[in-house]
Amino acid sequence: MLDCHCHLSQFDDLSAVLEQARRQGIHSWLSCASDRDSWLKQRELARIPGVLLAQGLHPWYAEQGCEGLEEFLPDSVALGECGLDFYRARDPEMREGQKRVLRRQLELARRYRKPVVLHCVRAHQALLQEMEAFPDVRCMIHGFLGSTADAQAWLRRGDYLSLGPHALSRSDLMRHLPLDRVLIETDAPSRGTSLLDLKPVLEAWQQVQPLQPELFQSNLFRFLGRQRDQAGGRQFKG
Ligand SMILES: [Zn+2]
Repeated sequence: MLDCHCHLSQFDDLSAVLEQARRQGIHSWLSCASDRDSWLKQRELARIPGVLLAQGLHPWYAEQGCEGLEEFLPDSVALGECGLDFYRARDPEMREGQKRVLRRQLELARRYRKPVVLHCVRAHQALLQEMEAFPDVRCMIHGFLGSTADAQAWLRRGDYLSLGPHALSRSDLMRHLPLDRVLIETDAPSRGTSLLDLKPVLEAWQQVQPLQPELFQSNLFRFLGRQRDQAGGRQFKG
């Protein structure tokens, strides 16, 4: 199994945590950056088998600015996580600040031809509007918990939706989302989740649809625009 969104640089006991996950059949992770400090820490993870990197600046840290991010992009498979969080940013000035940093990152994604991992909380309309200037940039909306209408808007753009442990009760999404555009994730260790929380998400989905974990793996590789063998198939076995 492949965890399509987590933050491995935030674990103190990473090798033990990864070993535990491997024993449960989880062998690959797309590890995303959060603040500036995480860029260097993330880069060190690149040598761990099965680890793919996304480098970017989370909207919670927008005030740190994304200067220097460019340097970390050639080694990464995607840019992220970035996005908008209007629950966190209540006033217009803060929201504008998040948008500015997001636009800069989307321009980088375009220049370096990287797909983008998006964080979106209470901001689907605003984020879709920002994306209008970037029709060529492919996105994954991680931890998707939006409405069916939100989902449709992202799918029309050609994007992917990733469901995590907080979507366990969303059988509406699991039943109706097109199976070639969905992903699963833990977002661990955010909000107390663990890398082992991937299995319950897969199982919840399997209760409403007969699907195999390999589905999410091939979807992630399609999102990343790379073939399994280009990335070294050995590292990405389910
Ligand atoms: Zn995250």
